[in-house]
Order: sequence, then C-alpha cells, then structure tokens
Amino acid sequence: MTIDLHAHSSASDGTQTPAAVVASAAAAGLDVVALTDHDTTAGWDEAVAAALATGTALVRGVEISCHSGGVSVHLLAYLHDPAAPGLRAALEGSRTSRLHRARLMVDRMSTDLPITWEDVLEQVDGEATVGRPHLADALVAKGLARDRGHAFATVLSTRSPYFVGHAAPDAVAAVRLVREAGGVPVFAHPRAVLRGRVVPDAVVEELAAAGLVGLEAHHRDHDARAVRELEDLAAALGLVVTGSSDYHGAGKANRLGERTTSPGALEVVEAAGALEVVRP
Ligand code: AMP
Ligand code: FE
Ligand code: FE
Ligand code: ZN
Repeated sequence: MTIDLHAHSSASDGTQTPAAVVASAAAAGLDVVALTDHDTTAGWDEAVAAALATGTALVRGVEISCHSGGVSVHLLAYLHDPAAPGLRAALEGSRTSRLHRARLMVDRMSTDLPITWEDVLEQVDGEATVGRPHLADALVAKGLARDRGHAFATVLSTRSPYFVGHAAPDAVAAVRLVREAGGVPVFAHPRAVLRGRVVPDAVVEELAAAGLVGLEAHHRDHDARAVRELEDLAAALGLVVTGSSDYHGAGKANRLGERTTSPGALEVVEAAGALEVVRP
C-alpha cells in the first residue's frame, strides 16, 4: 500500500487541478492520496469524482495556516465536516487576510519592480487560496524571477522588504476547531527549519493535550535526525507518525509518493475522522 497524505492543487498553490492531482497519484501508483490545499476545501468535490474514476482512494483534507507565538505552524486536518462553523470561519478569515496581504506585497514590490495586481490575478485559478507561490508565478511570467524557488530565495523571502505576513489562528485553537469539526489534526513538517523558525517540543505537547493526533515526521524538509526525534516524540506523546510528499505539481520538486504513511497510521486517522476515505 502506497499512501501519501499531503498534496496541493490549483485550489491553492499547486499547479494541477484537483482532478489532475488524483490522476497523477493514480499514474504514480499510489493507493491513497490526500488533497490538502491551504485553507480551503474547494477542491474536494472534483477530487472525489476523480478518485471514483481513477480507482485511487482519496482522503479529504486541508492544510491550515496557524501561528504559535511568532512561529508559523501548518496543521493538516483530515476527514472533517467542511460545514462545521468554527473551522469554516477560521479558514475564511485566513483566506481573506491572505488576499489583503498579497495585495500589500504587490504594492510594496511595485515601487521597485514592474508588477501589478492584474499580473498576479492571471496566475490565480478562480477562488483559489492566494499565496506567495502565485506572486512567484507572476514574477516568473514577467521575467523577474527564474522559477518559484528563485523568487522565494529573493523577492518573496520572509527577510525581504516586500514581505508581509497574514493573520492565522493560534495552533492550539486550530487543533480544537478541527476536533470540533470531527477532523483529525496532524502537525505538518514540524521541523522544516529551512522555512523559518520551528516550535519547541513543549508546544507539540500542548497541541497533543488539545487533541493533536499525529506528526508528519517523514517529509523532505526533515533530515534523518529530525525524523528520528519526531518519531521518538510521537511515541512519547501517543501520536501517530505520517509521511507525505507535500506535492505542488510543477511548483516544487516534491514528487507524489516520495514519502509515505503506513496503513496502520491511516487506520488511526480514519477511525478518528467524521468522514470516510473515498474508496472507489
Ligand atoms: P505563504 O503561505 O503564502 O506565505 O507561502 C508559503 C507557501 O509557499 C508554502 O506553503 C509552500 O507551498 C510554498 N513555498 C515555500 N517555499 C517555496 C519554494 N522555495 N519554492 C516553491 N514554493 C515554495
Ligand atoms: Fe504550498
Ligand atoms: Fe505546509
Ligand atoms: Zn503543504
């Protein structure tokens, strides 16, 4: 069984439609894939239809942008009721703030660079959650960056004068909202030090006490030592360990199935969730 529990589509900052992500998962030989777009479940229905058509099982999920102190935390949530009001409102708030923030970053960039908000909108698929990857795509289209990675290393870096943060819920509050919605919260890439500061173990303990179910230990942004420490931490706190690609289509080097989750861990996730895995 090949199980990959973290992938993005054009409903957020992936480059493929939700149906194409599921088709790519089938082509890559995955048995199970999770669609986990940033702060939105807008891709779910299309992905369900594609799962039924291709034969790859689908876990419906979302990757929630959160904060803990000043540190950015990404929380995966699986199999929740998308109509649950608390979580729904939190995601809506993050998407609205992301839109304002993207416009502010374009305003700042436009004093030095020939880039407009219209250039960015050309890169955004409908109501997709807007993120820095869309700004990167606009910079590339204008010849101002080579690719997303180059844009992130320069103009879009958190250290850039053009960088603006966005509002997001506190991570402990988000774990509670996910559980209230019948979902299964898993801490995404908890030790991805290349992205910025990471939280200490004490925060993971707090999240576990609030209802966290798992740690995404197996992720390309973790070295072997980080994986080992996260496995130990998960064992100590009674959390499951997951592994995933964090696929973004052509927007990142991450390939579907490059890290995987055990069938036993998926069983724990499914048993704790309000929805079932879509099995064709
Ligand atoms: P944002 O949430 O808008 O601040 O943008 C962060 C998102 O950009 C992350 O969730 C990644 O999906 C993506 N990202 C971060 N670094 C890179 C990179 N070097 N190349 C491509 N995408 C990246
Ligand atoms: Fe992303
Ligand atoms: Fe993430
Ligand atoms: Zn992700």
